[in-house]
Amino acid sequence: MICGRTPEELLCEIQGFHGFVAPGLLIGAFMIDKAYKVIDKTIEADAIVETKHCLPDALQIFTPCTVGNGWLKILDLDKFALTLYDRHTLDGFRIWLDLDKAKNHPNIYNWFMGLVSKKDLPKDILIDAIFKAGSDILSWEKIHVVQYGSREKKGAINVCDLCHEAHAASQGKTCFACQGHSYYDRLVMA
Ligand SMILES: [Zn+2]
Repeated sequence: MICGRTPEELLCEIQGFHGFVAPGLLIGAFMIDKAYKVIDKTIEADAIVETKHCLPDALQIFTPCTVGNGWLKILDLDKFALTLYDRHTLDGFRIWLDLDKAKNHPNIYNWFMGLVSKKDLPKDILIDAIFKAGSDILSWEKIHVVQYGSREKKGAINVCDLCHEAHAASQGKTCFACQGHSYYDRLVMA
C-alpha cells in the first residue's frame, strides 16, 4: 500500500485528478508515503513543495493540504522536493529525489534528467520502474521551517469605486483591474 492505496487505486486517483498518470506524481505519492512514516501522525502537517510541476497535485491528492485551504505552499524553484511540517512548531521532514540513488534505477534517472525520449522509454515501463524503486530513490532530513511556514490570513477587503467588485483593500480605492493592470481585455458580447 502507498498512501493507504493499492497501486491500482493510486493510478486511478492520479488519472482522475491530474488528467493523466504523470510519473512525477507517482514518485510524489512515494515521497508523501515516506513523509507520513517519519513524521508524527498526531500533528497537523502543512506542506511546502519546491516546484510548480506535478508534485503539488500529489500533495493535493494524498494529503489534506491544498492551495485553496492555504495549507500547501508552492515555491517556484523547480526542485523535486517537498516538506511536511508541524504547523505549530514548524519542525518537519524534507524529502527529495536523490539523483545519486536514482542512478541505480537508470530508467527513472534517464527520464528525470531528460536523457531519453518518450518513444525509447514507454510510460508503462517507467511506471513499473517507479513502483519497483519505491522509496529507494528518495532521501529525507529533519528540518525546521524558517520561511513560508505560517498560514496567510485573508486581508481587509474594499469595494471598488468603479466596478463595484470586492478586492483586497491593499490595492487602494479601486481594484488593480480598474487601475489598468488587468490580465484581460473586455470583448463585446454578440
Ligand atoms: Zn474595479
